[in-house]
Amino acid sequence: MSAKILSGTETAKAIREELKSEIEELKEKHNIIPGLVTILVGSDPASQVYVGAKEKTSKNLGIYSERFDLPADTPEDDLLKIVDDCNKNPKINGILVQLPLPKHINEAKVLFAIDPEKDVDGFHPVNVGKMMLGEQCYLPCTPHGMLEILERNGIDTTGKEVVVLGRSNIVGKPIANLMLQKRPSGNATVTLCHTRTKDTEFHTKRADILIAAVGVPKMVTADMVKEGVVILDVGVNRIGKTESGKAILAGDVDFDSVKEKASAITPVPGGVGPMTITMLMKNTVQAAKVAAGLL
Ligand code: NAP
Repeated sequence: MSAKILSGTETAKAIREELKSEIEELKEKHNIIPGLVTILVGSDPASQVYVGAKEKTSKNLGIYSERFDLPADTPEDDLLKIVDDCNKNPKINGILVQLPLPKHINEAKVLFAIDPEKDVDGFHPVNVGKMMLGEQCYLPCTPHGMLEILERNGIDTTGKEVVVLGRSNIVGKPIANLMLQKRPSGNATVTLCHTRTKDTEFHTKRADILIAAVGVPKMVTADMVKEGVVILDVGVNRIGKTESGKAILAGDVDFDSVKEKASAITPVPGGVGPMTITMLMKNTVQAAKVAAGLL
């Protein structure tokens, strides 16, 4: 068997087209322009790339965009003041503070300072709690993107054995939680593995749907999965450089071998990755509708 390739690039493109129409309609019918602010502290090159991509995507979709580039030694209080100003700014519907923050800043304190109604990253405890309770909220972008990939490719999760590798707050824990919610794209039986799991392979071999978010290049090999498994590979690992200096990326799954056994698989790059920014845009549009009382 050779797996169906679940293209996040294509799914993201389709969602962005839908968002474009929604944004035009909001403007024409309600005179609303969704607004997103991105806040970057320091000059980490990867973070600069991510923030640049988020800003560019917002502009392409017609989302009003503001950006703060702050020096690495910005005092925590100054950052909290900017967050507070953004909370009060009616032009801003979504606030994104790019992580990681420099060590002298308490990340949790900053994330908790964001108005939950503008927390389009879905990291505020209010949104995390609502997600767990199955209430309407902003879902964290990467897990949200995975749900869209599953739904739009007609992959039913009900009653399936879903195994998640990795328990980070931004991917592993939330996707595990979403998979067990009592609703479509949920209703699965979920196992969450991490570095203290005794026999990871025992679990991966049972998986109908395997989600890998560990940050270990090509950790999941063909002998670790069963025939027909659906694979969502979240890992983005730089494993080298091309002659022209471009990063060579690998997922957490050994794509070439596993694709021969899986029924469907996301590639890296072009799988889960492109969905993350798109879901940030979707959450921002949702936030603009909530602010206008349209949702
Ligand atoms: P993370 O914070 O890097 O943590 C890794 C998790 O994997 C931890 O829970 C760790 O367990 C677990 N783990 C590591 N080695 C393992 C092993 N051999 N067996 C089982 N579990 C293992 O996680 P993350 O931030 O979710 O990132 C994971 C990967 O996804 C990275 O490659 C990252 O770049 C990528 N990522 C991609 C996107 C995207 O948009 N595509 C978004 C976010 C992250 P312990 O808790 O026990 O240490």
